[in-house]
Amino acid sequence: MAGIYVHIPFCKSRCAYCDFFSTTRAGDAENYVRALSREVVLRRGEVLSEGRACSAQVATIYFGGGTPSMLTPRQLEDILGVIRRSYAIAPDAEVTLEMNPDDVGRWPDVAALGVNRVSLGVQTFDDGLLTLIRRRHDARTAVEAVRSLQRQGIGNISIDLIYGLPGQTLELWRHDLDTAFALGIQHISAYALSFEPGTLLSRWRSEGRVSEAPDELSVEMFAMLCDRARQAGFQHYEISNFARPGCASRHNSSYWAGTPYLGFGPAAHSFDGLRTRRANVPDLDEYLRCWSSDDQQALDEDARPQTATLEVLSDDELYEETVMCGLRTARGIDLSDIERRFGAERLRMLIATAERHIRTGRLQRSGNVLCINEKSLMVSDDIMSDFML
Ligand code: SF4
Repeated sequence: MAGIYVHIPFCKSRCAYCDFFSTTRAGDAENYVRALSREVVLRRGEVLSEGRACSAQVATIYFGGGTPSMLTPRQLEDILGVIRRSYAIAPDAEVTLEMNPDDVGRWPDVAALGVNRVSLGVQTFDDGLLTLIRRRHDARTAVEAVRSLQRQGIGNISIDLIYGLPGQTLELWRHDLDTAFALGIQHISAYALSFEPGTLLSRWRSEGRVSEAPDELSVEMFAMLCDRARQAGFQHYEISNFARPGCASRHNSSYWAGTPYLGFGPAAHSFDGLRTRRANVPDLDEYLRCWSSDDQQALDEDARPQTATLEVLSDDELYEETVMCGLRTARGIDLSDIERRFGAERLRMLIATAERHIRTGRLQRSGNVLCINEKSLMVSDDIMSDFML
């Protein structure tokens, strides 16, 4: 089974913490949908898995961004139509649309378009913090957005939250979690704030206007998140992701499992399920130039401007990636899989490193599966770096 990711690179304005590839040039949306449709069609023959052309069924479609909910419902319908005509989509495919709460009012019936999962960018339910990080909605709009989607029959709603925001106290975080879990949603993705280079927040930090949350506070917030999620019946299935049983994101889980996927749009990545990654160039103008031409000559692969880079992973890189993906999920690392794919010597090295962490209680081994204890997920980067070659 394969996945499809569609990048919609438009935002109404830039949020203070965000370094994702997007632009505020919403006027390009119609041209973009046309170009995207061409990419979807013309990459149909791309090999996705084990030498087989993409006749494999597509199990998940994910519209991410940027802000996919800046499209019109008709534009989304057009893109989904092209995907459905070009690829074999499983009848029970998970179709996720990322939405911003302030856009939901423009979408009266998301389910009718074929979307069955919505990921809502809430970030916090505190109006002061929302203003600080330059989100365009307030807490009331976010709650209303969830209720509207529920009324529309979307039975799988995820919300994104951020903790460790400047000035965010443990009490404010408790309020965010209480509000989120009271909404009857199925999934939460919660991320520790990071100050990415080039963002407004990073600039404010260097000017001394905001500061990072102390480590102890972030650890307390993470512990509170894990506790509240458990009490609410959510499973902690990846460092930052919690879901009611059966509601884990199938699309994101397939990234961590090494499943093949095709990414469309500027900055989108693809993976063939073996060892080749493709990264589309993060440049909207170049993307439009490449995929908008009516000239069939220009659409020929050789004549087309270079809009993607290919990377072939070495055995060592594949090994590192397998270990990292295993450690970040509750699924853990399958030791027999490591031996089968990378050999007995690599397995011996991995177990030797793991034993040090098992002794300190950070890792646990159960039969052939190795995973990080939930309490140690907050320091998972340190643990993972020990396994790098
Ligand atoms: S957080 Fe989302 S809405 Fe805000 S700038 Fe980034 S991609 Fe756009």
